[in-house]
Amino acid sequence: MTQTTGDHTPEERRNARVILNRLVKLYPNVTTALAYDEPWQLLISTVLSAQTTDENINKVAPVLFGRYPTPADLAGAKPEDVEKIIFSTGYYRQKTKSIIALSGDLVDTYDGEVPSTLEELVMLPGVGRKTASVVLAEVWNLPAIAVDTHVKRVMNRLGITSFTDPEKVERDLRELYPQDRWSDISMTVIQFGRDVCDAKRPRCWECPLRDRCAFEDKAVGPHH
Ligand code: SF4
Repeated sequence: MTQTTGDHTPEERRNARVILNRLVKLYPNVTTALAYDEPWQLLISTVLSAQTTDENINKVAPVLFGRYPTPADLAGAKPEDVEKIIFSTGYYRQKTKSIIALSGDLVDTYDGEVPSTLEELVMLPGVGRKTASVVLAEVWNLPAIAVDTHVKRVMNRLGITSFTDPEKVERDLRELYPQDRWSDISMTVIQFGRDVCDAKRPRCWECPLRDRCAFEDKAVGPHH
């Protein structure tokens, strides 16, 4: 059966809202774990954060931005110097290419500023919808839903969406939740995915969403 976005029942919508309300209660002040002083730094750090932890990025970022304090500095950097700094983040060659080109685009097209629309952000090198959504919500306080592996997994398990392709999950969630709730979703669900609904060992026995969760394989204790 093919499902298109938009065919949720009123009960599914109510359930989705109750779940989000509980998550917001659980994590009222959650924000990105990436440390940054300026918007462009968050953009670069989010690109670097693919396939690694935020803690790791927070170690690398001060060195990177200490050496290259502006987008123009990073745009003019030698790739081998940048590679050395960001080596520990993985995929360092590709990430170096992306962040140098991205900084160049910020300087050339946006006067060194971070653009404020999804359409402009996703045109930047190395920036996908997830990174763009993080930046829109964090920097510009605009409604956006960043779908990463945590959001996808948790929303699938809960039965809120049946899509697995991140872009389809994002569209489905946009359709399911009113716009003023969009920015609540990513950070709370990501934190919940880290703390409780872990990929390998979900802590279902102590999960505050257990009564609303559609996941069939709920863990009953720490040793299962
Ligand atoms: S009951 Fe288990 S699978 Fe469902 S949301 Fe909670 S931790 Fe995740």
